[in-house]
Amino acid sequence: MAINFIDLQAQYRAYKEEIDREILEVCESAQFIGGPKIAALENALSLYTGAAHAIACSSGTDALLLALMALGIGSGDEVITTPFTFIATAEVIAFLGAKSVFVDIEEKTYNIDAHKIEAAITERTKVIIPVALYGQCADMDAINAVAAKHGLSVIEDACQSFGATYKGKKSCNLSTIGCTSFFPSKPLGCYGDGGAIFTHDDELAQKMRMLLNHGQNARYKHRYIGINGRLDAIQAAVLSVKLKHFDHELALRQKIAARYDDGLFTCNNVATPYIKADRDSVYAQYSIRVKDRDNVAAALSARGIPTAVHYPMALHLQEAFAPLGYKAGDFPISEKISEEIMSLPMSPFLSHDDQEQIIAALKALHA
Ligand SMILES: *Cc1c(COP(=O)(O)O)cnc(C)c1O
Repeated sequence: MAINFIDLQAQYRAYKEEIDREILEVCESAQFIGGPKIAALENALSLYTGAAHAIACSSGTDALLLALMALGIGSGDEVITTPFTFIATAEVIAFLGAKSVFVDIEEKTYNIDAHKIEAAITERTKVIIPVALYGQCADMDAINAVAAKHGLSVIEDACQSFGATYKGKKSCNLSTIGCTSFFPSKPLGCYGDGGAIFTHDDELAQKMRMLLNHGQNARYKHRYIGINGRLDAIQAAVLSVKLKHFDHELALRQKIAARYDDGLFTCNNVATPYIKADRDSVYAQYSIRVKDRDNVAAALSARGIPTAVHYPMALHLQEAFAPLGYKAGDFPISEKISEEIMSLPMSPFLSHDDQEQIIAALKALHA
């Protein structure tokens, strides 16, 4: 049988009884929007991350959008972020009429280089959005410090890092606002689109709750222009079941990552992930770097081993961001990494045999 990039079917089989029962309960109650499943999930998410407020919403993209809306970001504002991320991070900035100001990444972690942020700050800068790429947090202490010095807010794009820790604290609970995604292939995924927003700030929390429900503060009373950004109850039900098994899954992810690290250690042409000592990764992706990526991907594919590229083009080179006026060469590290990066199959359900096959294939290619 071919190897899965992420084995969501095996995961469903593992929790099928619980998940089916929870989904049926929602169907029988007919409370599809709001209700006890949403409240229970939010409570569990708040306990898990330590954030005072956890707000379920419709996707990671909408979580980021709602966070920026709550901070009042719009035309004339600048938001600093990384060009080496999924487009949603910068898309929401542009969507609100604000301007993305990119700062290049660190060569080892692929996260925004905190040392380069201050030079990008202008009097228009309002927010910094670090991304915890592949499941490892950025240098949040340094980023929070530079933000505090200049009176800026920090939104952690934790769409790939739910469950990760940084100096003993959980991702999503490290800055003004944390945003995560429950897209099916994320470390904690639902069965459709979903996301959550986290904060300690009571006022921001209240505002985001209104914004995701059409800006409504009482039925048919609208304080703000908002969106329909709600999570639905079936997704909340699925997530509540999966959250119970999540720490066990994270342990498996880390074991699998360690096995890749050990197995690929002797491959001279393969750079394995670098995780800083004061944090851990949830390995949303296990991404390696190889010089001859297309050949490696083709050779692995020929042996039934799927790979993916996260991400093949830095955002400043995307056509959609042409109005920002960046050009090739502006962010050399992001550009170089985007040409070499490649993700290997990763899920808590990746079998030992399959993984050995993947490691052996890479070793054979790089002998
Ligand atoms: C997945 C992802 C998003 C968007 O999440 P959706 O739930 O798909 O909207 C945003 N940022 C990053 C870094 C992501 O990986």
